[in-house]
Amino acid sequence: MNLSNLSKVLANEPKYRYAQVNKFLWQDYISNWDEASNLPKTLRDRLQEECPLEIDAEILQSSSGNSSDKAIITLEDGQEIETVLIRQKGKSSASVRSTAEKIGRNTVCVSSQAGCPLRCSFCATGQAGFRRNLKAEEIVMQVLFWARYLKLEAKGLVDKTEKIDNIVFMGMGEPFLNYAEFIKAVKSLNNPETLNIGARRMSVSTAGITEGIKRLAGEKIQINLAISLHATTDDKRRQIMPVANKYSLKDIFKAVDNYITKTGRRVMFEYLMIKGVNDSEEDAYELANLMSQPLYLVNLIPYNEAGGKFQSSDRERIDDFKQVLDDNGVAATVRLSFGSDIDAACGQLRGKRSK
Ligand code: SAH
Repeated sequence: MNLSNLSKVLANEPKYRYAQVNKFLWQDYISNWDEASNLPKTLRDRLQEECPLEIDAEILQSSSGNSSDKAIITLEDGQEIETVLIRQKGKSSASVRSTAEKIGRNTVCVSSQAGCPLRCSFCATGQAGFRRNLKAEEIVMQVLFWARYLKLEAKGLVDKTEKIDNIVFMGMGEPFLNYAEFIKAVKSLNNPETLNIGARRMSVSTAGITEGIKRLAGEKIQINLAISLHATTDDKRRQIMPVANKYSLKDIFKAVDNYITKTGRRVMFEYLMIKGVNDSEEDAYELANLMSQPLYLVNLIPYNEAGGKFQSSDRERIDDFKQVLDDNGVAATVRLSFGSDIDAACGQLRGKRSK
């Protein structure tokens, strides 16, 4: 897919063409201009030639009930990136609190870079190294891909939710090392004329690039911020996240507090639960201490196998760890994880057909 020539191709067309084309692209989710039936044939041919819509992707479907589907997309220059559709089924019980819980929820996890330069020791993406930044259009394309997929799938199946509800910038790469294209993608996804996804339904996760946190604090857009913390001291953090050599916890908290002052929004701290590395009772108390701030939330993430030397903490350890946070008044949740059977879970995206 490449829409960079779209304005040029439509330049000499009547004004209403833009609206027609936008509807085909962003409401009907066409993947070939031949489907744009009411456009003149000559225009369709030219669009097909200069603005191809096809997305070259291989899909892997997860077998588990609440499931994740993964797509490996090959970009125009041959780079491969991964994107995941996380589907939470609706609950039928009377205890559901919201419509979203009743009908289920589709979340798309997008990559912001091909590869990643951060080389966190627990994450598969870093192991293959960094290839390049993605363009905003390549980020948006990942969401559009799933929108097309859900639409095709929903044909004839009335009980399917065919909408994309949430977007998380938690795929391959560090969004804040590609800030300009990341924020351009957010604005584009938010655009009522395209995918129209509310900013509050989008979340970005950073390993703690303070410049990005500062820039986001100054944006008019209300996207959610998450910080990959994973350790409670700089020393421990440096052992698993080389980026901690550049950004200290003190600097990160300073940037986060400035973000909270400016935006009044909550910030989520992600904390991986890795057996014997960061999951002791002492770690829990230290984390509770660091997190005792009104707008801080903690998300504990059971570690997913990523081909390295680490293992997840046991369920019991995670529960005990969370209990310490609860007892100290820290708001904490445990992340549900799907898709590890197809290497689609957090930290397992490699960007190549590895298996
Ligand atoms: N670079 C960004 C965003 C991508 S990672 C960041 O670091 O936040 C999205 C989340 O998945 C991060 O919290 C990351 O630390 C976590 N993650 C990485 N490897 C993982 C693994 N093997 N299991 C579970 N989560 C992992």
